[in-house]
Amino acid sequence: MIIGVPKEIKNNENRVALTPAGTQELVKRGHTVHVQSTAGVGSGFSDEQYVSAGAKLLPDAASVFAIAEMIMKVKEPVEQEYNLIRKDQLVFTYFHFASYEPLAKAMIATGAVCLAYETVERIDGSLPLLIPMSEVAGRMAIQEGAKYLEKPLKGRGILLGGVPGVRPAKVLILGGGVVGTNAAKIAAGMGADVTIMDLNITRLRYLDDVMPKNVHTIVSNEYTIREMIKDSDLIIGGVLVPGAKAPKLITRDMLKSMRPGTVLVDVAVDQGGCIETCRPTTHEDPTFIIDDVVHYCVANMPGAVPYTSTLALTNATLPYAIRLANQGWKKAAQENMELRNGLNVIQGEVVYKAVADAFGLGY
Ligand code: NAD
Repeated sequence: MIIGVPKEIKNNENRVALTPAGTQELVKRGHTVHVQSTAGVGSGFSDEQYVSAGAKLLPDAASVFAIAEMIMKVKEPVEQEYNLIRKDQLVFTYFHFASYEPLAKAMIATGAVCLAYETVERIDGSLPLLIPMSEVAGRMAIQEGAKYLEKPLKGRGILLGGVPGVRPAKVLILGGGVVGTNAAKIAAGMGADVTIMDLNITRLRYLDDVMPKNVHTIVSNEYTIREMIKDSDLIIGGVLVPGAKAPKLITRDMLKSMRPGTVLVDVAVDQGGCIETCRPTTHEDPTFIIDDVVHYCVANMPGAVPYTSTLALTNATLPYAIRLANQGWKKAAQENMELRNGLNVIQGEVVYKAVADAFGLGY
């Protein structure tokens, strides 16, 4: 198969959909890989690395889209790319169709086959192409939180791990899923006093078994959250109710009970946030302050660490890409339920129920 990897052009997107290592794996299997020149530079991969892995370089996106049978991207196509996508072409990337109708309409009009990373789903309901980004965001949440706890950045001025003779910071993590678990791991490793809250007791039982001694688990409810936030230094929002907006676990009135300089990192901001006062921010201007409480609500946290994020994402996407290239999308989807779940639009027809429902498009 002929595979095309254009450079991402969405604002501040430095990830790339295929690494030189992934290129080599595809080329080894007899496929041809065309990479747009400088596509990997933002993630630390030079054109020369792609060429020595067997890729052919193309000067611009138009030539990549013109030649490829499968386009591999990271972000959903942006307007300049709509017209480059061809009928019957397979586009394998994040789409998040339900949140942006113009994109859905544009992709339907192209007649392309849209296989969305975010809906590739395993039999147990897990989403293997979203997990790596939650792992990155969960770990980063503590790194960022620790930074904004510093006094010059308007935090309480407390060191996460404390020092001998001085107590460590208290970290409260709302949601013990992928984000929460990864946040807890890093916070615990830095020596903080960590509490994870979740509704799912089975999950809390598991976390209690595997986490170190400085991580505690508590069932999530409003009463306990109100108690816990009074002396927490850093609070991470990592809850998810699949297919719904995040529940507001920390409301506006609760901020008054927090100590000045408390830091909130609402990772769930991309689903509306679980902290009422959160609104999406960017890496250029990541925080704002309400009632002396620092809010960090960057909607694409993994974008700040493109090297790690690209490797984490492509580790997960490559096995699917190889299957698609070897078998073509039809046979691959017939044989593999996970890929079948990823199909959102096929040659003008919406085939994913949640997307069809979102726009009343019929299904
Ligand atoms: P997940 O499904 O693995 O975990 C969510 C957890 O929240 C589950 O364990 C669930 O039981 C728990 N939960 C649900 N309601 C709760 C409540 N009322 N109280 C306490 N816990 C509750 O999801 P995840 O992969 O960890 O993702 C969490 C959020 O982070 C999602 O909204 C995801 O989109 C977002 N995310 C954001 C970024 C970013 O850059 N900002 C990056 C990756 C993921």
